Amino acid sequence: MSVRTLKLVLGLVVGGFLLAAIYSTMMISERQQALRRIARYNPTWQAHQVLKEFMTLDQSLRMFNDGDSDGDKEKVQLRYDIFAGTINSLAKGGFRDIIERDPGFERTIRDLEGSTNDAAPLIRNLNSPDNARAALQILHPLQNSLTQLPSITFNHGAALASEDQQELTRLHWIFSSIVGCLILFGLALIGLLARHNILLERTYRRMGNLTADLAHLAHHDPLTGLANRVLFQEQLEQALEKARDDGSTLAVLYIDLDLFKNVNDTLGHETGDQLLKTVAARIRGCVQGNCVIARLGGDEFAILMRPISIMQECTILASRIVKEIGSVYDIEGHEIVIGTSIGIASTGLGTSSPEQLLKQADMALYRAKAEGRGTFRFFEPEMDAELQARRALEIDLRKAMVNDELYLVFQPQVSLQANEITGFEALLRWRHPERGNISPAEFIPIAEDIGLIASLSEWVINEACKTAVTWPKTIKVAVNISPIQFRNRTLLPCVRKVLTRTGLEPSRLELELTESALLHENETTVTALHELRELGVRIALDDFGTGYSSLSYLRSFPFDKIKIDQSFVRDLATRPDCMIIVQSVVWLGRGFGMSITAEGVETEEQLAHIRAAGCTEVQGYLLGRPKPASALDFSGTLPALI
Ligand code: C2E
Ligand code: MG
Ligand code: MG
Repeated sequence: MSVRTLKLVLGLVVGGFLLAAIYSTMMISERQQALRRIARYNPTWQAHQVLKEFMTLDQSLRMFNDGDSDGDKEKVQLRYDIFAGTINSLAKGGFRDIIERDPGFERTIRDLEGSTNDAAPLIRNLNSPDNARAALQILHPLQNSLTQLPSITFNHGAALASEDQQELTRLHWIFSSIVGCLILFGLALIGLLARHNILLERTYRRMGNLTADLAHLAHHDPLTGLANRVLFQEQLEQALEKARDDGSTLAVLYIDLDLFKNVNDTLGHETGDQLLKTVAARIRGCVQGNCVIARLGGDEFAILMRPISIMQECTILASRIVKEIGSVYDIEGHEIVIGTSIGIASTGLGTSSPEQLLKQADMALYRAKAEGRGTFRFFEPEMDAELQARRALEIDLRKAMVNDELYLVFQPQVSLQANEITGFEALLRWRHPERGNISPAEFIPIAEDIGLIASLSEWVINEACKTAVTWPKTIKVAVNISPIQFRNRTLLPCVRKVLTRTGLEPSRLELELTESALLHENETTVTALHELRELGVRIALDDFGTGYSSLSYLRSFPFDKIKIDQSFVRDLATRPDCMIIVQSVVWLGRGFGMSITAEGVETEEQLAHIRAAGCTEVQGYLLGRPKPASALDFSGTLPALI
């Protein structure tokens, strides 16, 4: 029942009550009138009185007439006056009612009055002889009418009483009906109030549930159902207070998924969400006992372990989580592999505020990421300073592009058969205003972490192509592509745009990918490679041998070039196993029709070994250091080649 209907019904009930109250007041007054009528002066008694007075007058008159000693004149006159008075009063009072109802009765009364009045002069003059007799003759016939008078009045009274009784019965029924109606209205009102109460109770219960739902929503992550940052912070505060009191130790594990953004970028947010749910379930599966698990946002999770007796507990849990999250996922038919890095901070070092503990866990997480991801690290006090430095570097890097602090240098790649330069590798440099030159090995991972790599790469590709168009047409340019940017779908449009803008022949652009770009090799990766190849650009596999060196990479995509990592070249002269590896890679490459470049050639001896192994190209300080575009020499008469 809606509130509007309830109000209407309530209005009707109250209106009913009012009407019933007014009507019952009228009934009561009517009833009082009826009772008053019953209690009124009784005409029958009056009629008897009249008859009695007549009889007394008649007797006195007769005695006077008969000369009885008792019948004196005054007495007769007195009796006559009384009788005349009663007769005159008949037309008034109770008889009026009878007269109104019965016109014949009025005539009788008038006759009685007339005869009585006729007798008056005779009674006044009783001393005259025969007056008494004459008066008797006038009055005597009245006896008949007067004798009937009580029965007439009685019948009239009975009729009135019966009418009153009927009226009273009617009033009784009406009153009972009103009382009945009032009782019904009352019951209806009670019913309504009861219903109203039920509605109110239901609403209250619903509001209670709603409040509980809202409270749950305010404290939980809707996607994974885990505690959110607010609840985690609250629980951490409480746990820290308790730990201060009982001297126990707490630990916070800050978990960040490695390269989760790529899943979102390549497979869409729905798959990303499913993945996060599965990750949350896996974390739950790893955790036992009195722990709080939270999703702090995005791909960040946290665990509050309370209380812990030995740090080994954290180590065991962190290793288990790294292993579990790192196992393959099957989400909507996609085989996904991601990793995780974990930072751990405990109150063992005297930390007592939630913010500080979380910050320390975050710093440890940074360290875990910096040390190769897919691992965990405990917070150490010196990390604080390192983190500050890292944060400062992040800020500076964001400004570097705008402030023109970035530039490219080019290192020659030389063909061993033709003894001439075939191309240059573009290498990024950052001239920091205070710290001087910063190695790309240091700032590229930061750019990847803070989401700057896409715009940075676009700048590099554009600069490299812009420079290369000014070179002789036989000289190629190689550009390094970050694995993150490669998986990101923006690479293809970026390359296409730059080639169009600069007008560089696509075959003169070589993209260098490291093995890590292919680490999560799947259909999307291979498709992206083919799409790039269709543009006409060349694809090289950089730093071969340092990653997983899976032969399946070579089978899944026909690279144009394999670049053997400089770590194998460095020890060629001293370690025969390096020679075997280089030799094997050369054979492999030949088998697949790929050219083989040896990186980091610094000495004549290394060059001799490389030549002996059958590499097609070399790159290294021996043949030329990376130089700015303005200092490049394309002549090919390199000292080392002679
Ligand atoms: P990389 O692609 O393997 O580049 C070769 C690195 O070896 C360069 O270091 C180069 O200076 C160095 N090198 C060349 N010849 C020799 C040698 O004979 N001896 C020694 N010891 N080193 C030699 P660099 O310029 O510091 O670059 C380091 C890495 O940073 C590069 O390795 C590449 O992975 C990355 N990088 C450089 N520029 C870019 C860029 O524009 N984008 C991306 N995503 N990564 C870049
Ligand atoms: Mg390279
Ligand atoms: Mg390399």
